[in-house]
Amino acid sequence: MPIEIPADIVARILLVLQIILALVGAFFIAFWLSLVIWTFRDIRSRTRDALAQILATLMVLLFNIPGLLLYFILRPQETLAEAYERALEEEALLQGIEEREVCPGCGRKVEQDFLVCPYCHTKLKKTCLMCKRLLHLNWNICPYCGAPQVSSSTEVKAEAESGAQETPPEAEE
Ligand SMILES: [Zn+2]
Ligand SMILES: [Zn+2]
Repeated sequence: MPIEIPADIVARILLVLQIILALVGAFFIAFWLSLVIWTFRDIRSRTRDALAQILATLMVLLFNIPGLLLYFILRPQETLAEAYERALEEEALLQGIEEREVCPGCGRKVEQDFLVCPYCHTKLKKTCLMCKRLLHLNWNICPYCGAPQVSSSTEVKAEAESGAQETPPEAEE
């Protein structure tokens, strides 16, 4: 004999089920929207390319979680902030290397403000004719005071060459 369920109880159960379904549906819509928003924020921190931003957001908007997986595979590895930090570190590293100068004559470490190498006497720098600051040998104008160094450049060149020639032993004695 079939169990008779009163019609009003059936209606109540259906109503409760409807409410639960609506809540679950609302949760999934909210979840899906937050995935889209998260993706948009994430891609904006990784690239300034507007097309890439739109495509990544659309991908998650259309494909939801599989789209998010695709996004994780395709997204740029570094955020813009990380890339900037790395660039700064590299620059600092390069500067550190540049600051460690070596003598072109004997290869030993010399300070940046040495005029000649203390080991082999190779001329490393010249002084400005006007302000007396140290200049590279091949500069023909002073970057500090603007004085042209043309008049002494030939003489300096000759000096640099004689210095770079490793001091021939017969001339020295
Ligand atoms: Zn030297
Ligand atoms: Zn000068």
